[in-house]
This record gives sequence, C-alpha cells and structure tokens, in this order.
Amino acid sequence: MAKARRGRKPLPRRDTSSGGGGGREHWRADGQPKTRYPSSGDANRYALQALLEDGVQLDPYVCGICGDWHLGNRRG
Ligand SMILES: [Zn+2]
Repeated sequence: MAKARRGRKPLPRRDTSSGGGGGREHWRADGQPKTRYPSSGDANRYALQALLEDGVQLDPYVCGICGDWHLGNRRG
C-alpha cells in the first residue's frame, strides 16, 4: 500500500498583488519568522537591552499570526 506522507512547511506567502496585508507582522524581510516572546515582559526586557546596548529602539507588539510577542523597529 502507498504511504501517505504529509509534509507541511510554514512558507511565507508573498502577495505583491493587491495589498491584503496580514502576515507581515510575523515575518522579517528575509522571509524568516521573527523572534517570538511568550510574554510582554520578555519582549520589553529584550527591547530595553537592545536600547542600552545597541541604541536601537524596538517596539513590542502582539502578533496576530502566532499570538506571541515580537519586536519591531521604530523609524522616525
Ligand atoms: Zn508571530
């Protein structure tokens, strides 16, 4: 008998046609998933560390895809 193989890979979709959005908050520009933080405390702690060490201001936010926290760059 044939064996049913199911391989699921979470590939990022690249929809460049009509805007739609969605998913960008979870993926980096490289196409790799962003670092996930289980709580706002973890995200804030890392954001503070990045600010002190690298001078980079990061903005913690809840991801609508995975439900965890990510850090986004702030411009301006
Ligand atoms: Zn996410």
